[in-house]
Amino acid sequence: MLSQKALLLAAARRPALRRLVTGVPATRRVVDRFVAGESIDDALAVVRRLTGEGIAVTLDHLGEGVTDRAEAKRSRDAVLALLDALAALRLGRAAEVSVKLSAFGQDLPGGTELALELVRPVVEAATAIGTTVTLDMEQSRTVGSTLAVLAELRRHHPDTGAVLQSALRRSQADARALAVPGSRVRLVKGAYDEPPAVAWQGRREVDAAYARCLGVLMTGPGYPMVGTHDPRLIDIAQRLARETGRAPASWEIQMLYGIRPAEQRRLAAAGCAVRAYVPYGVDWYGYFMRRLAERPANLRFFLRSLAGT
Ligand code: FAD
Repeated sequence: MLSQKALLLAAARRPALRRLVTGVPATRRVVDRFVAGESIDDALAVVRRLTGEGIAVTLDHLGEGVTDRAEAKRSRDAVLALLDALAALRLGRAAEVSVKLSAFGQDLPGGTELALELVRPVVEAATAIGTTVTLDMEQSRTVGSTLAVLAELRRHHPDTGAVLQSALRRSQADARALAVPGSRVRLVKGAYDEPPAVAWQGRREVDAAYARCLGVLMTGPGYPMVGTHDPRLIDIAQRLARETGRAPASWEIQMLYGIRPAEQRRLAAAGCAVRAYVPYGVDWYGYFMRRLAERPANLRFFLRSLAGT
């Protein structure tokens, strides 16, 4: 039988459900907890607030799994417009961007080449305003393609960031390969439902794999980005930083906008480099469903809002 998590993640890919959920006005209130708004101006307001609190950001123009080239080009243009707007804020690396290659046509025929062609100008525009781009990681079947695009981009832009998912069995080897000088790697648990052949299934195994990958990245010469809200794993990262004599500016903790915000502020005030992942845009359905899948309490809260209680 499918778990609640697997059901929600399957629902994230259903167009009919997307229409149903996004059409309900009450949904908006719950979505607002996780999404900064629909426009660039909405996103920039959040950027100003968070950076004012000492929290850096990585902005995500929402969208994924485009089905034609025109849509993929619109994703590129949207991120270019965002970078244009960010230039005026002169925040440098305090405001970077994250992109999903499936929004840049990765799933289309010839998708790896298309995604590379469309994401390259984004990385160039980011470099021009003194900031960086991180390639989000999506379903396991796309990992090889995403790492291939990363390798190409890193030839001229070595600070282009990657994401590794500890749920995937291959990630410890990927972490070793990416633990090189200048390499920016965000480690997360993984938000997708993956089969046992490629992924650890239990929470304990995923957490143990996270700790192992963390060990590789924190003891290596790169720039680890510890993407988790899990206090135990953050403790392990901080312990590793102390043991290896890592300077506070040589790694960072990343959390999602709207999740444990007080902890984000506390860590920043305690001298840790903290970055919030800030999604914005109209295409929030897939992102929102993954946040519901991560935590039963979010689903209960959502259902109560729909019932108007
Ligand atoms: P969990 O064990 O899930 O949670 C630990 C604690 O955090 C929970 O007890 C709860 O207090 C809090 N928490 C966690 N999730 C929620 C939630 N949804 N709502 C409310 N509270 C919550 N995944 C990818 O597959 N690819 C990516 O590119 C990617 N990028 C990410 C970027 C960042 C900055 C972060 C923080 C996560 C990203 N993720 C990505 C999602 C990630 O894979 C996990 O699904 C997500 O972070 C939940 O796992 P956790 O490490 O926080 O641990």
